[in-house]
Amino acid sequence: MKQSRTAVAIADGRALGGSLRVIVTHEPDLAAAKSAVDEVVRAVDLAANRFDDDSELSRLNATPGRDVVISPLLTKLIAAALRGARLTGGAVDPTVGSAVKLAGYDADFAAVPPDGIAIEMVVSRIPGWHAIAFDEAARTVRLPRDVDLDLGATAKALTSDLAAATAISRIGRGGVLVSLGGDISVAGDPPAEGWLIQTSEDSGAPIEEGEETISIRSGGIATSSTTVRRWTRGGVALHHIIDPATGLPSDGPWRTATVVAATCVDANIASTAAIVMGQAAIRWLEEGRLPTRLVDRAGSVRRLAGWPKPS
Ligand code: ADP
Ligand code: MG
Repeated sequence: MKQSRTAVAIADGRALGGSLRVIVTHEPDLAAAKSAVDEVVRAVDLAANRFDDDSELSRLNATPGRDVVISPLLTKLIAAALRGARLTGGAVDPTVGSAVKLAGYDADFAAVPPDGIAIEMVVSRIPGWHAIAFDEAARTVRLPRDVDLDLGATAKALTSDLAAATAISRIGRGGVLVSLGGDISVAGDPPAEGWLIQTSEDSGAPIEEGEETISIRSGGIATSSTTVRRWTRGGVALHHIIDPATGLPSDGPWRTATVVAATCVDANIASTAAIVMGQAAIRWLEEGRLPTRLVDRAGSVRRLAGWPKPS
């Protein structure tokens, strides 16, 4: 690429069990942007970490059957998860929590053993998001018994959106990009050439010349993949995206989906849904005009709904 690139300043770290990257277009604003992002990340961790028994989400999950008043932040997180369910006809459903645990993903991914004995996969119906009584204005939620809310498909992405918005209002000029494990949100004025983002199935992959790169100026981009967080039990390969229709890891044609949308949370709703919906996702993504890059199980790439051809 011959285009000359705007100089940007980058801070890296770890957050919410994955990588964190903050980029600003005005170098002197980096420290202020990073600390704004860190504050949002810390608040989300306290509210919604499913591996911490003291998080607000864990306490909510331990209190089924009655109305619980929740914080404004957990209200936003649950609202986003239920929006995902509504927009995808339930392909994205936050009541998959116990199915995710049952498949063996019950700790920070680094602590999930790569192999293990066979799991007796009891196929049971996912309770379904309709079973949640949620009043956004009153900030109350009532969970049925046996429901473990899992905000995994939307929380990280919403955190990127909130963090980018908070950082830009704190620094008041230029542009900010926040990436949490590859769930990317941008705010403010982009660099002249846009935010250049390398597509990859693994957000930990190094940045290299010649890889497929796209440019976004606003909104967000997210990737869902069955290739990175996977493990085996009794020789059976499992991964972390559950088909709510079966309660088992989804087994559709796509191993990775990357979507661009008006927000990172909407991009992540669509990327998770694409993995779960399989072939049916093509029409749904085209109708929603969500530029998408799908990788099938054999590694072939399919670009839809305005995703640019690689140059
Ligand atoms: P990644 O975490 O790689 O970005 P996703 O954004 O698709 O992938 O989120 C996957 C996470 O969402 C899982 O780890 C799990 O916690 C949760 N999850 C899995 N399947 C579903 C589903 N069908 N609906 C909602 N959440 C899901
Ligand atoms: Mg994601």
